[in-house]
Amino acid sequence: MLKYDGVLDKCEIICVGTELLIGSTLNTNANTIALALADNGLYCYWQTVVGDNVDRLSDQIRTSISRSDLVIFSGGLGPTEDDLTMETACMCCDREMVFDQESYDRMEKVFATSGRKFSKNNIKQAMLPKDSVVLPNDNGTAPGACFVTKVNENHSCVLAFLPGPPSELGIMLNKYLIPELKPYTLHSLRNEYVHIIGIGESKAETMISDLIKNQTNPSIAPYASEGECIFRVSQSVDEDSKGEDLITPIIDKMRMTFGDHIYEVGQRSLREVVLDMLVSKNLHCAFAESLTGGMISSGIVDISGASSVFEGGIVTYSNESKVNLLGVSPQTLSDYGAVSKECAKEMAIGVLKAMNADVAISVTGIAGPDGGSASKPVGTVYIGFASHDKCDSIEFHISGNRMRVRKVTALKAFDYLRMLLLRGHYYEEE
Ligand code: AMP
Ligand code: MG
Repeated sequence: MLKYDGVLDKCEIICVGTELLIGSTLNTNANTIALALADNGLYCYWQTVVGDNVDRLSDQIRTSISRSDLVIFSGGLGPTEDDLTMETACMCCDREMVFDQESYDRMEKVFATSGRKFSKNNIKQAMLPKDSVVLPNDNGTAPGACFVTKVNENHSCVLAFLPGPPSELGIMLNKYLIPELKPYTLHSLRNEYVHIIGIGESKAETMISDLIKNQTNPSIAPYASEGECIFRVSQSVDEDSKGEDLITPIIDKMRMTFGDHIYEVGQRSLREVVLDMLVSKNLHCAFAESLTGGMISSGIVDISGASSVFEGGIVTYSNESKVNLLGVSPQTLSDYGAVSKECAKEMAIGVLKAMNADVAISVTGIAGPDGGSASKPVGTVYIGFASHDKCDSIEFHISGNRMRVRKVTALKAFDYLRMLLLRGHYYEEE
């Protein structure tokens, strides 16, 4: 357990890696760490990126530990020569690095099970700061660590080291580091996330502007996300509120305003919500995809448990494949075109039958940048639905570049399926 004498008031993040400085890797770790800090009542004052350079990194470390109570590092824990974060920090804090047998044994096991060769370089990853708390790596090899250093008579600082690969960092941060820091946080927060789809972020903010303006505790903050909008409702529990739940009344008001556009109060993604609905209704689904090229199928397969409801998907990009694999009629294609309500319906019926599913969704549209026309501009998308006793389709207009149109189409497809499962139709106002 980490032992810190005081509270973690000022925090900062240092991301190490030349690839971040030159822009070849997007610094998503800073984002992940900053969100986790905010969620846990830890205030982030600075974020810095430093290249793989001992002199510049040590300058930064000395500055950071003298002004902050907590410094979280990302990157530079790898086995290669340029990964020097822990060594440099230990040098700045006058702390030895020692061999950690437990981490070494764990790494050896990981290598053995994956059939890889354990090289001398990897031994470097078992060298950790003396008297540190080891943070296990559930998704890779390099362990993390944290320790407290005394900077001067009046000030001590916690240094925490996380690995660069985002899939390793996220789990180590939330599962192992945050619990170590929690006893020393100044503010205790309770957060709830309200996920909204089908209403743009600025419109959603306007719709609850009075609520946002008049709220201090809990506070309401929007997070933009592609095609959807998330509000974080955050209650500080050490003010006057004591143990009282101030969040539920706010969420009730938001439900009154946004209605079915709220698909989740919690942490689930839209795909997870839809998957859970299918499981609870014991319905099997199938997808026929044109412009999304498999994104919808891939989206559901991302979630463990998909096999209990997902029968399969068919990607039909050409007119011929729509006819041959889904049974879309050539007459429909010549009368209305492949990007049409009629084609979307026939695609959904086709995949429903082909996969012997209970419900099916299809998408067809113009992702751009070419292919648009005056009557069907780029971003025109049709989403179809079919079940044993119902068939429908709907038209959307999605703005943005090719990738955005395709991503938002996949999101809309899940939302269309959600609404049909929930209400039997899409939103009333549409
Ligand atoms: P490292 O631990 O420095 O060897 O980094 C390993 C890999 O993690 C790098 O090749 C990057 O792909 C990735 N990575 C490192 N730092 C970051 C970061 N701040 N954000 C996103 N990815 C990162
Ligand atoms: Mg690196």
